[in-house]
Amino acid sequence: MLNAGPDAMNISGTTRITGLFGYPVEHTLSPVMQNAAFSHCGLDYRYLPFSVRPESLRNAVEAIRALSLSGVNLTVPHKEAALPFLDRLDGEASAIGAVNTITNHDNVLTGYNTDGKGFIMSLTEQGVLLEGSKVLIIGAGGASRSIGYYLSRTAKGLHLYNRNREKAEGLASHLSQHSGNVEVITNLTTLDAFDIIINATPLGLKRHDPLPLDPVLLHPGQVICDLIYHKTPLLIKAAARGCRTIDGLGMLLWQGAYAFELWTGINPPVEVMRTALLSLVK
Ligand code: NAP
Repeated sequence: MLNAGPDAMNISGTTRITGLFGYPVEHTLSPVMQNAAFSHCGLDYRYLPFSVRPESLRNAVEAIRALSLSGVNLTVPHKEAALPFLDRLDGEASAIGAVNTITNHDNVLTGYNTDGKGFIMSLTEQGVLLEGSKVLIIGAGGASRSIGYYLSRTAKGLHLYNRNREKAEGLASHLSQHSGNVEVITNLTTLDAFDIIINATPLGLKRHDPLPLDPVLLHPGQVICDLIYHKTPLLIKAAARGCRTIDGLGMLLWQGAYAFELWTGINPPVEVMRTALLSLVK
C-alpha cells in the first residue's frame, strides 16, 4: 500500500522545493534532516533526492531555474563540475573550488560551500581547539579541499597525506594561496606530532576496508576525526588507544544547517536536525 505521510498530503501549489543532486543519492540522510527542520519551523518547504547522472548535470542545474526550485545541495560527483553552470559564486566557494549548496533568488543561481564550515563547527561544538594545533588530513579529494581551506587558516600547521602524492601536492599548493601553512607528508610511519588527525578518505565505509593508518601510532590526547558518519573501525581503535574521537555526523548536520539558512533566511533548528539524523544512524 502506498504510504503517504501527513506531509505528503499537505503539498500544495505554494510548496517550495529544495533537494539534493547526486549520483548515487539512495543512501542520503539529508531529506529526513531537512524535512524535519522545515516541519518544525512550520515552513511550506520540502527536500527531495534527485538522482542526477554526471552527463545530465547542466540540464539539472538549469532545471533549478525552470522549475523555480528554492535551491539544492550537491554531492558526489557534482561539487566541482557544477561551477561553470552557476551565475555567481560565494567568495569561500570560489576559493575552495567546489560548491555543495545552490540558492535560487529571482532566478539567479549562487553557489556556496558549507562543508568546510560545517566540519569546523562540528569540532568547535565539541570544544576542540584548532588554534595552536598541528593537524593532519589523510586524503586529498573534495572533502579534504573544503575542510583544508578553513584548517589552513586556523590551525598552527596543516599537513596532507594522500596515496596519490601528486594530488596532495596540488591541493597543498592550492591551499597555500590562502595560507602559507600547508605541507605534504609522504608516509604515515610516525604520527606523534599531530594533535588532530582526520580521515578524509572513504576507507571505513566498507566492512573489509583497511584502516587509513596504524592505530598503534596513536596516543592519548590526540583527536581522531572521521568524515564518515558512523563509528568506523578507525574511531573504535583510536578510542581504545585513549584518543578523543569525532565522527562525520556533526559535519553533515552543520553543513545542512548552514544550507537551510541560505535557502530560508531562518535560523536553523539545529537540535531538531540532529535528533532526526541520530534517529537514522542509532
Ligand atoms: P573524493 O573526492 O572521491 O576523495 C577521496 C580521497 O580518498 C582521495 O584523496 C583518494 O585518494 C582517497 N582514497 C579513496 N580510496 C582510497 C583507498 N582505498 N586508500 C587510500 N586512499 C583512498 O571523496 P570526498 O568527497 O573527498 O569524500 C571523502 C570522504 O568524506 C567520504 O567517505 C565521504 O563520505 C566523506 N564526506 C563526509 C561529509 C560529511 O558531511 N560528513 C561530507 C563530504 C564527504 P586518491 O587521490 O589517491 O584517489
